[in-house]
Amino acid sequence: MEYNDSQEATELAERARAFMDEVVLPTERAQPGGEPVSEETIADLRAEARDRDLYAPQIAEEYGGMDYDFRDVLPLFEQAGRSVLGAPAMRVDAPDEGNMHTFELIGTDEQKEEYLRPLVAGDISSGFSMTEPLGGGGSDPKMLRTTAEKDGDEWVINGHKWWTTQGSDADILLVMARTNQDAHPYAGCSFFLVSPDTEGVEIVRDIPHVGQSVAAESHAEIKYENVRVPEENLLGERDEGFQHAQQRLGPARLTHCMRFTGMATRALEVAKAYLSEREGFGSPLADKQALRYEIADAETRLHAVRTMVRDAADKIAAGEEARIEVAMSKTFAANTTQNAIDTALQSCGGNGIGKDLPIADFYQAVRAFRIVDGADEVHKRVIARNAFEDIDEAELEPLLRYDE
Ligand SMILES: Cc1cc2nc3c(=O)[nH]c(=O)nc-3n(C[C@H](O)[C@H](O)[C@H](O)COP(=O)(O)OP(=O)(O)OC[C@H]3O[C@@H](n4cnc5c(N)ncnc54)[C@H](O)[C@@H]3O)c2cc1C
Repeated sequence: MEYNDSQEATELAERARAFMDEVVLPTERAQPGGEPVSEETIADLRAEARDRDLYAPQIAEEYGGMDYDFRDVLPLFEQAGRSVLGAPAMRVDAPDEGNMHTFELIGTDEQKEEYLRPLVAGDISSGFSMTEPLGGGGSDPKMLRTTAEKDGDEWVINGHKWWTTQGSDADILLVMARTNQDAHPYAGCSFFLVSPDTEGVEIVRDIPHVGQSVAAESHAEIKYENVRVPEENLLGERDEGFQHAQQRLGPARLTHCMRFTGMATRALEVAKAYLSEREGFGSPLADKQALRYEIADAETRLHAVRTMVRDAADKIAAGEEARIEVAMSKTFAANTTQNAIDTALQSCGGNGIGKDLPIADFYQAVRAFRIVDGADEVHKRVIARNAFEDIDEAELEPLLRYDE
């Protein structure tokens, strides 16, 4: 399939595909039974990505990246998603990728020096600490309970978070807290940079979860009790946290769509190989119309995802917020990739469940995608609100009359 990608984007994605096929997939296959890979293995993959000009392409050259713009790097994300090791290898892995983007957008020069540069290098890791347990902010951000109060030239943070990805390993946490109780509930929050070593930070636990795959993903519950950080640890503008979160989440949702599209595409590649080799009832399974239609549907929907994501990305690159396009892409991509991976798993029979093939890991990993970065229902709320806003009351009656 051809898409409206620039020559730079196409060349970058082709290089990424070769790297995945020649280096990353063989490394993944060498992991017995989907065991987590070691830090040394990730470091080796990163060294190879650097040699092939594929390391942190989305980041400014000044901070160790390659200066590609967001739109041109998108097709690479799909290639990276073909293995759970692809994104960490090319340093386009969540949540660091979204956090690096946030530092680039709103960090001060000092913050970029202290955190962005070592993040890009892979010397440190980060967590994005926004979601809260029951009683606090989840899908509805105006419920956010964590507070930060000014005391002299320090901020004092109190709150309880969970699902902070890689929070228990992170060197720096980006914590969202309410800084203005008088503001509109959807405003008045700010981001703070908190080192987990600061007094009052308690990593309660890593939450056991579906999808602990070879990438060894962890999600922490964290308490912040009278955590004091200096004034300069405010990230971005005071009280503008929600605005900044949207700046981060729009592009990050699209990069997630592309990574999971890569995962679903690889699952289908494996399934097509299995169906072509496996025979039953007098012919290869790949000849059975019922199975062929399932694959055809999955391919069609993945093509639609790639097209929708590019459309949303073009709008963001042109300076638009593209909120509806991002919400539609994210919801459609999450459901499409989940269904495609399920189709691939079913096509491989018992081997789809087994860990000799990567599909079982993908099947677990993809389930969270309908929840993270805004659950389906929350995006549908936004899409529906927009759909109903377009209705002009004056035109309702003629639309409903069939008797003329
Ligand atoms: C693997 C994983 C990684 C994550 N990483 C991070 C991270 O790094 N940082 C971070 O801050 N958070 C993270 N999260 C949290 C994630 O952002 C939230 O789980 C997500 O935003 C949904 O919030 P919630 O879990 O509080 O669901 P809830 O708000 O409790 O919602 C529960 C269900 O109700 C539905 N619902 C809510 N409102 C409505 C409505 N009005 N109408 C209909 N249905 C509705 C939701 O869609 C959902 O299905 C992660 C979660 C997971 C699973």
